[in-house]
Amino acid sequence: MTPQSQPAGSGHELSFGHELPPLDSAEASKGTIRILQLYPRDMNIYGDWGNALVLAQRLRWHGYTPELLEYNVGDDFPSDVDLIVGGGGQDSGQLVIQDDLLARESTLRELAEDGTPMLVICGLYQLFGKFFKTRTGAVIPGIGILDVETHGTEERLIGNVSVSSPEFGTILGYENHSGQTTLGPGVAPLGATAKGTGNNSTSGQEGARYRNVVASYLHGSLLPKNPALADFLVRTAVERKYGSFISGSPDDSYAVLAREHAARRPR
Ligand code: GLN
Repeated sequence: MTPQSQPAGSGHELSFGHELPPLDSAEASKGTIRILQLYPRDMNIYGDWGNALVLAQRLRWHGYTPELLEYNVGDDFPSDVDLIVGGGGQDSGQLVIQDDLLARESTLRELAEDGTPMLVICGLYQLFGKFFKTRTGAVIPGIGILDVETHGTEERLIGNVSVSSPEFGTILGYENHSGQTTLGPGVAPLGATAKGTGNNSTSGQEGARYRNVVASYLHGSLLPKNPALADFLVRTAVERKYGSFISGSPDDSYAVLAREHAARRPR
């Protein structure tokens, strides 16, 4: 069943009007991967929705069928989710989702512990951690899947970022956050910042890694410019569901151009 054909009221219809075109080739699909975007209504800034679209397109290029689902405040949580993405948001958006997110803590923790690949950006990175204390002093509790905590400051960290990651090579993106995140011993950084700030103004580190969860401050969208990271999420989802991943032939020409362009940008 495609997301577009889901019955009204299931809470998972796409609210942004993006239609998924059919598979490019006439070949039989190698399998179906269900991608869930968390809280796109409230947590979806600087193009974060594009991450879900990239995952869907790369799955198609690899010969798999993507199903794109959304989860917003008050929805039923869909079953059989294979890949989860979540975006960033204003402090106000984070306040809107906080109670609902806390109510979904055990579901999301179980999925993360079980190895479900997840990408959480900025505002949801912070709330996958223990808490975000905003610069006005409000404490927004997180679900603590990631051993990190975040404190808002008056200094907003804004600009283009380049990260050197041992797993994914050079990661390029854009940051805009007041929160400064400190990593505990339960997580590893995603990488070291070569340009820009990342987690906080002193560590020289960006993002966090735990099991198959990738957390990052980088918008952009992130995945169009970082196919190695996108394919890690895709491959992990497929291997987890089907035991092995048979790659196809993704068209990386636009990603290469986007990376060249992004790498030339000043801070
Ligand atoms: N509101 C949070 C902050 O300012 C997250 C921002 C974002 O998601 N870009 O730190």
